[in-house]
Amino acid sequence: MDKETFVSIIKLLSEHYCVQSPGHLNVPDPFKVLIGTILSQRTRDKVTDLAFSRFFSKYKNVEEVAKAPLNDIIRLIKPVGFYRQKAKRIKKVTKIILERYGGRVPRNRELLIELPGVGYKTADIVLSLAYNEPVVAVDTHVETISKRLGIARWNAKYEEVRKSIESVTPPHLRRIVNGVLVKFGKEICKKPRPKCELCPIKVHCEWYKSRHPLTNLKTA
Ligand code: SF4
Repeated sequence: MDKETFVSIIKLLSEHYCVQSPGHLNVPDPFKVLIGTILSQRTRDKVTDLAFSRFFSKYKNVEEVAKAPLNDIIRLIKPVGFYRQKAKRIKKVTKIILERYGGRVPRNRELLIELPGVGYKTADIVLSLAYNEPVVAVDTHVETISKRLGIARWNAKYEEVRKSIESVTPPHLRRIVNGVLVKFGKEICKKPRPKCELCPIKVHCEWYKSRHPLTNLKTA
């Protein structure tokens, strides 16, 4: 797919699907975005938002989290999945940020992924949402849609998918790609069964074309 086509897709979808991030990511503070992303792993947005607001109504900054007893963190974030592991991870990450980086979350991908439990996706969410860097954060929806559209190869892993999407996305649009495609993926391009009959971009979709070879997509 070429850049022009993908830009038109993102513009079209952004008119239908709200690009606003969920509450736990819609904050200007990199530390909060990082903790929110850790809390959100394998957890629904609503539950994450609840745990996030409970957590940050008690602790205001890195120093307070570093001093917090582990059991208090466990109790506060308990609605989220794997809360015990996440509480330990939050303590470890916070300690490193305080001791190694003076309380500031690093604005650097390599340093971010050195933090315990922080992978490429979490690093890219922090960089794009908190630091306004022009990167595309790839989650399961972004990955699936980009592969169905034919932007990334089916067996591509995270880095290849990210680079493929970025190659067709001008820098000024990269920050919104995740928000738009996540919403579109939850509502239309679902896993495992997408609602292709309702899809406004099927004319551009390789996955759809491979399953409907005789359809005249120009009239769709
Ligand atoms: S046509 Fe179907 S598979 Fe393709 S993008 Fe639309 S919903 Fe997803």
